Order: sequence, then structure tokens, then C-alpha cells
Amino acid sequence: MAGRNFLFVPGPTNVPERVQRAMVVSMEDHRSTKFPELTHSVLTDLKAVFKTTTGTPIIFAATGTGGWEAALTNCLSPGDLVLASRFGQFSHLWIDMVTRLGFQVETVDCEWGEGVPVEKYAEILARDKGHTIKAVLATQNETATGVTSDIAAVRAALDACDHPALLMVDAVSSLGSIDFRMDEWGVDLCVSGSQKGLMLPAGLGIVCASQKALNAREKSTQPRCFFDFGDMIKANGTGYFPYTPALPMLYGLREALNMIKEEGLENILTRHTYLASGVRAAVFDGWGMKLCAKAPKWYSDTVSAILVPEGINGAHVIDVAFRRYNLSLGAGLSKVAGKLFRIGHLGDLNELMVLGALAGCEMAMLDVGVKIEPGSGVGAAQKYFREHDTIAKKKVARSEVVYASQSTGSNEGATAGAAAKV
Ligand SMILES: *Cc1c(COP(=O)(O)O)cnc(C)c1O
Repeated sequence: MAGRNFLFVPGPTNVPERVQRAMVVSMEDHRSTKFPELTHSVLTDLKAVFKTTTGTPIIFAATGTGGWEAALTNCLSPGDLVLASRFGQFSHLWIDMVTRLGFQVETVDCEWGEGVPVEKYAEILARDKGHTIKAVLATQNETATGVTSDIAAVRAALDACDHPALLMVDAVSSLGSIDFRMDEWGVDLCVSGSQKGLMLPAGLGIVCASQKALNAREKSTQPRCFFDFGDMIKANGTGYFPYTPALPMLYGLREALNMIKEEGLENILTRHTYLASGVRAAVFDGWGMKLCAKAPKWYSDTVSAILVPEGINGAHVIDVAFRRYNLSLGAGLSKVAGKLFRIGHLGDLNELMVLGALAGCEMAMLDVGVKIEPGSGVGAAQKYFREHDTIAKKKVARSEVVYASQSTGSNEGATAGAAAKV
């Protein structure tokens, strides 16, 4: 098919060309005396992305799922009880892993479209006077439903009853795109992966552990080998890995971290809110449709799960979008299969890319019989983007003036151009 694929699944996300090029490397000796430069630099810069000074980032050749396993097996012991909530496919899978690894879990089931039930957590934790709950799990961004939860509030619930359980957060589809604060929120284990906000292919499971988590690891009797933090931290300390690292992924990560530094993490978070707001304008103001997320406080800035009307199969919209328009959208998973389609709007993305995806969604929806006005979503998003500037965009206002002056071709233009330089 001519032209490019519009990749709008919420992971893997678009890998910037700079990052792709940085990954085309010859293999090298990962035990050379030069190698530690790379290890130390990526581990240092990852701390800024996790917003931690006291935490320890750890990189596994794995995916987010491996990160989940690392978090659980390093810091718990066989039979330990964890508190978790289920409100989508990813929070569900983490709970499933907890039981498959032989830990106990108290699960709070929530409606899909809601997030971590903080009040319920607070009640359960306050009742647990004997501190049998060893860890509290929270999926910050439930990618299956487009729901973001309040992690600071989970920390507050733990603190309110002085509960010592570890706070474990899945930030796979939020790190580097939705605000995450390891230190400020007292997160003990944060799990992420390379292929979402970090703009890389899948292949790295990236975890950050607090000092409290590392202390818990000392006492853990859970068998583990590949995912042992101890081997990794010992080797990383001297700039190496306990086994062969995924070299191109590390070079890609180095370049992605450069890009994050250049744009600025806060600007990136603002850009995600801005682009997500444009998508929501399309959904609500343009199409008159609904999100799976049940209230504005849950709206995710990295993925929107859009409910299709009764009688329409969401999978049909996705298939037409892909086959006819070369647009890849996220499917409804498990309980919400067929009921929705998802637009991933995270990573290396700008307005026109989002507008292209929205245009494709419109055509695909019209093709399968959804009653929307052609151009309505695109128009609503355009309106939003033109009326709202991000911080980064304000910087270009000046060159726009010069450009406007050039197109007049008159003395007036020259004056405007000169004025713009002041
Ligand atoms: C993608 C995702 C995962 C799974 O990560 P993999 O890299 O596919 O193993 C876990 N949790 C959330 C919230 C995700 O979005």
C-alpha cells in the first residue's frame, strides 16, 4: 500500500527516525572498558523520567509483563497477600500473574471505565491492623479502557493508616507521557516498558525500585533468577549487565532520552494533555459519542477508548480503518471486545498526525454505518488546536509573523518582518 501506515495503537507507538537510526549499530563488546558510559548515562537519565533521586532504575531485556514479574518476585515471599483492583485487561493480567506466581490477592472489582477505587482501598487498609497486606497494586493508566488513576491518593490512603505495604504501580502506558512522581508519591516499585511513552520498540522492561523495596527484597524468600534485582544492581554499579544487554535497544533508549531532555519532560506532558484534549473534542463535540472512561477525572491523556453505538461492532471499524485506510487502531479487549475502538495518542506525535487518525476514524465509522457528520470530529479537533496553544507552540509565534510578512510581498510586509525581529 502506498504512503505510510498510521500507527495509532496505544503501543507499540511510533519510533522517531532519530531513534531508529540510533539503533542501527554494529554489535560490540559489552564488557569493554567504554561500555559503562552508556549504562551509567541511561540509568541516570531514566531517574529524571521517573522523577526520582533516591530510586534505582533497572532495565531488563523483557517487556512490561516482565517488569510486573520482577516487581512481584523481588519484593514478596510465597503466600504473601496483595491488594489489587481490576477495571480493564491490563489490571486484570497483573492480578492473574499474582495468582499464577503463588501469591494471594484481595481483588476489588470495579466497573470497566473507572479506575483505582481509592476509598475502598483506604477502608481495606485501615481494617488490616495486622498488616497482612504486603503490597498494594495500582495500574496508573488502564490502556484497555483509557482510564487514569490518582496514584497520589493511593499513597495518601496508605499513609492515613500508617500502612507499611509496598506501593507497586504499573506505569507502562503513562511513564514519560502522563505525570508520574516516584519520590513525591512514595512509589516503591514502578513498572514500565520501552514501546509506549518512551518511543522505542518493545524489548525492554524498565522498573524503578525505592530503597524500601530493595530492603524488602533482602527479606524475600521467593525464588527468582533472571529477574533478580540483586544481580542487576551489582553489575550496573560498575557499568555492566549480568548477562548480554540488548545493545540496539540501549542505544535507542539513549537517543529517546536525549529527545525527552530536549523537549523537556513537562512540555511533553503538556503536549499529551493538549493532543488528548483535541481527540476528546472530536469524540464529544464532533461525533457526539462517548468514552469508556466514565467521568472526566478518569480521562487518559495517552489513550481514548471510544464506545461505538449499539448495533455496531467496534472490531469492524478497526478492520475497515486498517484495510481501507492503513490506519491502525486499538481493539476492545476481553469484556469490552466489540464495544469500542481505541486511539493511542502517546509518544512521538503532533496535531496533524492526530487529525489524520481522526479523519480515518470518521471514514471507517461512516463506512460501517455509524451516524456521524463527515468532518465533524476533525473540525472539532482543529478548532481545539487552533484555540489552545501548548507552551512549546508559543515559541513559534514569532516566525509565523515573519512568514505572514513574506507572503504579502509588499513594504508593509518588510515592516512587519522587521517588527517581528524586535
Ligand atoms: C502494554 C501494557 C502492559 C504490558 O506490557 P507488555 O510490554 O506488552 O508486556 C502492561 N500494563 C499496561 C498498562 C500496558 O499498557
